[in-house]
Amino acid sequence: MTMLIPDIALPRALIRDAAQFRGHVHRDCVTGDLVLRRGRVVGMRSGQAAPGTCRLIFPALTEPHCHLDKCHSVGRLEQRGGDLSAAIQAQHRDKANWSADDIRARALRGLAEANAAGVATLRSHVDWGRDAEPPLAWHVLLELAQAAPLTMQLSPLTGIDQMADPDFSETVARAVPEGHAIGAMVLGHPHMRAGLRSLFAAAARHDLAVDFHVDESLDPDMNGLEAIADLALETGFGGPILCGHAVSLATRPPKDFTRIADKLARAGIAIAALPATNLYLQGRAPHVPAARGLTPLRALSAAGVRVVVGTDNVRDAFCPVGRHDPLRALELAVLSAQLDPPLGRWLCAITTDARAALGMNPGPIDGAQLHDLRVAQGHDPAAMIGGAPHKPATDLLEELPR
Ligand SMILES: [Zn+2]
Repeated sequence: MTMLIPDIALPRALIRDAAQFRGHVHRDCVTGDLVLRRGRVVGMRSGQAAPGTCRLIFPALTEPHCHLDKCHSVGRLEQRGGDLSAAIQAQHRDKANWSADDIRARALRGLAEANAAGVATLRSHVDWGRDAEPPLAWHVLLELAQAAPLTMQLSPLTGIDQMADPDFSETVARAVPEGHAIGAMVLGHPHMRAGLRSLFAAAARHDLAVDFHVDESLDPDMNGLEAIADLALETGFGGPILCGHAVSLATRPPKDFTRIADKLARAGIAIAALPATNLYLQGRAPHVPAARGLTPLRALSAAGVRVVVGTDNVRDAFCPVGRHDPLRALELAVLSAQLDPPLGRWLCAITTDARAALGMNPGPIDGAQLHDLRVAQGHDPAAMIGGAPHKPATDLLEELPR
């Protein structure tokens, strides 16, 4: 059965096979009447509507990097503010309050925000602690992942030095069920290379995706990113590999950047920009902020590296404001990383590319079911990124003649 939904605009970057899709090209979108066959989007027919009366359709959103174990704890922290090291210490002290009920209540608040924001896929990191055995938060969040109304992946956040002990990395990997990830913070640690080697080996044995917090610093000598890329190329690790932050990369000379970006592209490593936490924590100076911590989004994308954008911390020691909404994170990336219109291509960073970075089918619009999609009023992705309301695309069925 074929169904037509009139007056639709779609960002072209979210269509896998634009040549087959048809429709009228209008800037970075195509417009027309959407064709569904057996419930799936198969293409467009030229419609009568002017672009100004169209509704913009896009895939349900992906949140590729957040921390549901830490979120919504800022109100009770005794010491707030400061840089990354101060945030780590403040959050560590707060763990005295982390009962199962406390973790569950705060994580459910974060999940409710994500759900209201139209998120269908989410990855949360979980602080691991000193022991190799999983912390309480891991058990609580795994339980939530099984019952969540969205696809929820978890990734242990260990220190890469801890991973240098093969028993530690094996115990952590064994605690991670299929479909989740394994990860570590990489920040100039003395045993970084041994830790990376051990982590990659454990991930390969257990067929897990890997996810790093790497080089969350403006120090140009910090280069865990290249060590990760070198090891991925050397071992032929099948991935997926996602590296969050990569802030120090922005401070490297152009020839270093080109070399590192080339390795990232060849190794198929995706980079997650997390502007909220980086803008808050890095470049602190007495009067006005100094150099800001930013992932070089435009330059990485131009070098052929898959880039995604995440929310990261929400109302905790690392970032006192925000909510779990990928569109707000992308809006902040537009401002901080100076992403210029047309902005449709950057929607991939919170939809198709974000899903691919998590090891999932990218889920482009062609081939999607209507319930995999969202709809906003308008025809310009910039309006949507700027806060235009959106809703499930299945609501459009109520407008069709019966
Ligand atoms: Zn993070």
